Amino acid sequence: MSTLLTSQGVTKEFGDVVAVDGVSLNLSRGDIVGLVGGNGAGKTTMLRLLCGLYRPSNGSITFHSADGSKKPIHELRQRLGVVPESTGLYHRLTAWENIRYHSRLHGIDDDTAWTRTLRFAKSLDFAEDLHRHTRGFSRGMRQKTALLRALVHGPEILLLDEPTGGLDVTSARMVRELVSKLRDEGGTVIYSTHHLAEAQMVCDRIIIMHNGQIRSDGTPSELMHETGTDSLENAYVSLTSDIARAVIKEESETRISKMWRSLLTPSSKNKEVGEDE
Ligand code: ATP
Repeated sequence: MSTLLTSQGVTKEFGDVVAVDGVSLNLSRGDIVGLVGGNGAGKTTMLRLLCGLYRPSNGSITFHSADGSKKPIHELRQRLGVVPESTGLYHRLTAWENIRYHSRLHGIDDDTAWTRTLRFAKSLDFAEDLHRHTRGFSRGMRQKTALLRALVHGPEILLLDEPTGGLDVTSARMVRELVSKLRDEGGTVIYSTHHLAEAQMVCDRIIIMHNGQIRSDGTPSELMHETGTDSLENAYVSLTSDIARAVIKEESETRISKMWRSLLTPSSKNKEVGEDE
């Protein structure tokens, strides 16, 4: 599989806090990677670095196009689908209108967007809700809308930040099945989660993050072998046994929501029409 993204010695500091600390990793096309760690481990910061939303304080992130040439990270934007922690939907629009707004910004015609959306919405048991206004949607429904929005332009790489957070058991399972389907279609997915068991179900490769560092990177059996343990949970505990640092987030969620939206929007000239969070 060809290399898609590389991170070399990447550090991200916020004042005294080193949120990501010297991370080097390679992501190849077709990888389904689980980024697993506790609160404050650095997962969200790492995802934001990988998609170019944050600039590293040190180190570099490189996007490798299919012909093997190295490109600046902003060239990844059109090929990226993102489901951020905060969905940033426009509450005056229906789910489908939110998705269509996004697909039009990516130059996708409405018929293609609708066909693609309906296909994935059926997988998520969400087709009936596509024409409802998102105001008043449950967290799970917002998550599903954000996931469909992320998929509508056929991204080459999908970044999911806690995609099953707030979903019921059945919906979480549907999301996992959707990710597996994307894997079968050759997509690349990076999936951040607190839940080790979930990562084990979905991902071929698991990266354990703790206190901003990568503690291990491999298949579940490689992680168990490395730590001499007989379960992934024991491997995780052994790799993260030192005390986790405190979590202090100074930036407001509204600001972060706006930053994600600017990333999801190819042209910065587009006027905002409201948001749900
Ligand atoms: P969670 O699972 O709780 O969402 P996480 O693994 O995604 O956590 P990050 O959100 O990346 O972790 O945070 C890593 C560290 O960086 C934490 O100590 C956090 O307080 C700090 N941090 C993250 N974003 C900021 C910010 N914008 N300003 C200041 N500190 C930040």
